[in-house]
Amino acid sequence: MAKIENYNFAGKKALVRVDFNVPLDENGKVTDDTRIRGALPTLKKILADGGSLILMSHMGKPKGKVNPKLSLSQIREDVAKALGAEVEFAKDCADASKEAAALKPGQALLLENLRFYPEEEGKPTGIDKTDPGYDAAKKEMKERQKEFAKKLASYGDVYVNDAFGTAHRKHASTAVVADYFDADHKMLGFLMEKEVKAVDNILNNIKRPFTAIMGGSKVSSKIGIIENLMDKVDNLILCGGMTYTFAKAQGGKIGNSIVEDDKLELALDIIKKAKEKGVNLVLGTDCLAADDFKNDAAVKVCNASAIPDGWEGLDAGPATMASFVNAILPAKTILWNGPAGVFEFPNFETGSRVIAEAIAEATNNGAFSLVGGGDSVACVNKFGLADQVSYVSTGGGALLEAIEGKVLPGIAAIG
Ligand code: AMP
Repeated sequence: MAKIENYNFAGKKALVRVDFNVPLDENGKVTDDTRIRGALPTLKKILADGGSLILMSHMGKPKGKVNPKLSLSQIREDVAKALGAEVEFAKDCADASKEAAALKPGQALLLENLRFYPEEEGKPTGIDKTDPGYDAAKKEMKERQKEFAKKLASYGDVYVNDAFGTAHRKHASTAVVADYFDADHKMLGFLMEKEVKAVDNILNNIKRPFTAIMGGSKVSSKIGIIENLMDKVDNLILCGGMTYTFAKAQGGKIGNSIVEDDKLELALDIIKKAKEKGVNLVLGTDCLAADDFKNDAAVKVCNASAIPDGWEGLDAGPATMASFVNAILPAKTILWNGPAGVFEFPNFETGSRVIAEAIAEATNNGAFSLVGGGDSVACVNKFGLADQVSYVSTGGGALLEAIEGKVLPGIAAIG
């Protein structure tokens, strides 16, 4: 497999899959350019070597149709400013051979939103899965996807995938396109390499003790990860809304707290497995309960298994927070996914803040910490601690699937 750090892009046209799926305001202005900045090390190396760039990305979910509100032309200037280079725009990414051929070293071309084409995702449109013609339509779309990927591939001499956020998708630009380049002409970008290394530290290169903190609203969305981590961690903190499914499963009274009644058995099974495997399972013992789901609701600290009717647990309680800190501070490997409470309400953010602060302190003492998956990233940003953890992942679904132990198509395609 080729490595970006060793590759000389001089005179080469690099076809780079980036994740420029940035948020825009109602006037089409970029409101957060983190993703553009994330790709810069890769893009600047290519230009500095004397290569040229063909940038391809998706934005939003246009579902295979042209939608001007999701046109990447809106971010062209931001990309040019970040790169410090001219960026041309190709408004038809399936017909950009001329523009690509005209590129000179040091120049860049941004292709239109890949998802304006149904071939990018490769799912048949306008037909239901239950329709008798579905399988034939799927097969036909897969062929069209290959043709589309081949066209994209024809623009570049070398393919670089730096879009971790979509690495769990087998799309034309993230995986299929790689089939049209040999092993010496395809590689991961720097951002992808960092993400892969961070996941490897969590799954294979573990320094002990290893503490994983899984929070958020539901057990069901985290079960694959919890099961995979059970064989690896020393301490497993399960917090947030999951707390109450565990409390109820063990016979607790949880008032109006969020609960998955069909996951009570599963919760008991997780408790049993943790015992069998010698994992220290940290569950909430107390909570901050509210009489309504709002920031200024009345609150009281309750036993997480004895919440009065009409009240619901919206954050961890003080004893629970202390047990989080005890499991986090001595750790040498830390993974955090999902908040410990409804952190969007300032009055219920303390549990998540305590976790973030303990992770920052442990990191300062030499631990490797990985924070990823949507809301926990929002937490470290909210608490101003993003630069005090080892790595903040750019991947939501991709990170979660990687930690579940699944092989990501975007990475597998590189070989
Ligand atoms: P997830 O998408 O599953 O990671 O869940 C994140 C969401 O879980 C956040 O929006 C939190 O507000 C929510 N959450 C965390 N703790 C609770 C709780 N105790 N009750 C209801 N929602 C919660």
